[in-house]
Amino acid sequence: MSYRADITIIGAGVIGSAVASQVAREGREVYLLEKNEGFGQEQSSRNSEVIHAGVYYERDSLKAKTCLEGNSLLYELCEKNGIAYKKCGKIIVATNDVEARKLEKLYERGKDNGVPLKMLSRREMSQLEPNLRGVAAFFSPTTGIVDSYALTSYFLRKARDNGAQVAYKTEVIGIERVSDGYRVRVQDASSDFSFITGVLINCAGLYSDKVAEMAGIDIDEASYKLHWCKGEYYSVGGGKNKLLSRLIYPVPADISLGVHVCFDVDWRMRLGPHLYYVDEISYKVDDSTKRAFLESSIVKALPFVDPSDLEPETSGILAMLQGEGFRDFVIRHEHDRGLPGFINLVGIESPGLTSSPAIARYVSQLVNEILGSKV
Ligand SMILES: Cc1cc2nc3c(=O)[nH]c(=O)nc-3n(C[C@H](O)[C@H](O)[C@H](O)COP(=O)(O)OP(=O)(O)OC[C@H]3O[C@@H](n4cnc5c(N)ncnc54)[C@H](O)[C@@H]3O)c2cc1C
Repeated sequence: MSYRADITIIGAGVIGSAVASQVAREGREVYLLEKNEGFGQEQSSRNSEVIHAGVYYERDSLKAKTCLEGNSLLYELCEKNGIAYKKCGKIIVATNDVEARKLEKLYERGKDNGVPLKMLSRREMSQLEPNLRGVAAFFSPTTGIVDSYALTSYFLRKARDNGAQVAYKTEVIGIERVSDGYRVRVQDASSDFSFITGVLINCAGLYSDKVAEMAGIDIDEASYKLHWCKGEYYSVGGGKNKLLSRLIYPVPADISLGVHVCFDVDWRMRLGPHLYYVDEISYKVDDSTKRAFLESSIVKALPFVDPSDLEPETSGILAMLQGEGFRDFVIRHEHDRGLPGFINLVGIESPGLTSSPAIARYVSQLVNEILGSKV
């Protein structure tokens, strides 16, 4: 590593890797720094692997825009580059009249966002999914699933092919504004050193508020403070995966989209994520939440699921922005906070995996505006 970079990206999750693949090119010195031993070990490998269609998010929000754009970009790049995916579609199902009224509103929001959706009659629902029970449902044909490990690994390969240097076990521990950019202090396995970078991009996921703070931002005032929200998954055994052909979601409640049916690309079935806020990182899952799973709305729609089919499996932790109501992704060049060349990505929770290629394009535009004709 030389000690001057044009662009430094903090965090090799799916977002940092996608951004690196997009901003690295001939003539640019790009570093991607990751504190863990490998890429994508936090949110990016501990999620539902769903390619979302864009139903849930406020119109014209970054979440809605990057999700819709990311959805079509992802299918294209998976197909071209041999990344495993399935465009299986999903059904959102209401199990009672109260949910049915909410379902209609959700359908309207999705349509308003430009998502292709189809309201189903009971007959159509049972033709598509004979084992599903519900009083109302709609179908989202552009929802799918992707191998998230293969996706992040693809972005990294592309970043390296474009000349980016990737350093693992390299934690950013300090950021100082200097005349020609930022002095970044890092700690690797053997030492503590610093270098200068012109542009600094914060893709630090669960720690992105801390990194913003390191750069001198008051994260309370900026509303960048994160809440960690743990999502637990239970596997569903007993061959029950053969009884469904699509992802099945409930009508969303409280902080989440609701415990739903997830499949991976090998069609292994899970239920989750069951979400709750935590203060520390622990991915441990035991059977203490089994009751919550059994009482979830989705289980009412799946009468064939027996309690003995469910086993605690994995979990992931989401980087949620604090505050009431809808919070959008923060993707922002912080020049007006006296930090020219510093780009923050904070609160990149769901649908960040889906949005990753679109977010990378968006950040690349910001970088081009910053570097202008310099590179
Ligand atoms: C339970 C759950 C379910 C989800 N389901 C879906 C879904 O179905 N579909 C979807 O589209 N999205 C989903 N998401 C969201 C998606 O996983 C995230 O939006 C996405 O993975 C965020 O990627 P990231 O790169 O920003 O964060 P991360 O993957 O967390 O990566 C950030 C990286 O930064 C590194 N880092 C942090 N601080 C430093 C530092 N100081 N120095 C160096 N490195 C540092 C970390 O080690 C980490 O590797 C889900 C998320 C969770 C947790």
